[in-house]
Amino acid sequence: MKQTLIAGNWKMNNGLSETKALIEDLKKIEIQDHCEVVICPPFVNLGMASQLLQGFNIKLGAQNMHYQDKGAYTGEISPKMLKDLNATHVIIGHSERRQYFGETNELTNKKTGAAIGHGLRPILCVGETLAQREGQIAKKIVRRQVIEGLKDIRLQSGEEVVIAYEPVWAIGTGKTATNDEANEMCEFIRQVLSELFGDNIADAIKILYGGSVNPKNVDGLMSEKHIDGALVGGASLKAEDFSRLIHYQVVRP
Ligand code: PEP
Repeated sequence: MKQTLIAGNWKMNNGLSETKALIEDLKKIEIQDHCEVVICPPFVNLGMASQLLQGFNIKLGAQNMHYQDKGAYTGEISPKMLKDLNATHVIIGHSERRQYFGETNELTNKKTGAAIGHGLRPILCVGETLAQREGQIAKKIVRRQVIEGLKDIRLQSGEEVVIAYEPVWAIGTGKTATNDEANEMCEFIRQVLSELFGDNIADAIKILYGGSVNPKNVDGLMSEKHIDGALVGGASLKAEDFSRLIHYQVVRP
């Protein structure tokens, strides 16, 4: 059975002492084999997080990276640097990076390719704005983000990449897509992935939902057929909440 993935995006939260305290709390959580768990602290705390997590079943991810190995790119971090810190995952093209830092599908494509090339698993974020949903072009936008983000990328198994469907209107707003809305878009993404890579690889690619996932709505979302996990912002900052997400219960109607 495909492992699910619960990934915490800490965003620009938690200094050194808060990072240490939260990780010490997370280390007490029992993690079962069917669920892969990743936390993505800010860059400056990745080194300490990497040391604290040694020997524990929680993986480390970054929130962004440059696509080059090294060079004159002031303020940037390379995939090689993340590998040195034992990071396994990296969030690419989060809507906040697209919105505030002008990241385009072309850039997410370069970053996704570079991450895979270095053995990091990109969590490629896609999702429509409220205006796009209301204008009935959500699928068109998401389709383009998937196709352009994965342009010229070859996959052997599908495990090399993760897609996170994050409707922009649901991120940090407390508004969650309904289970049906989230599942419908994740199913649509899987169809697009099938067109690109064939059914077997598309089935193996984890598709996460993200957008105000919390202890109250996680069970319903995780019970949907095409949702393989969650990318979580706010609720990943408290060990108790994150633990509840990791221990989601599948509820069949
Ligand atoms: C996110 O940052 O990817 C996210 C989904 O945030 P939140 O859970 O706070 O909506």
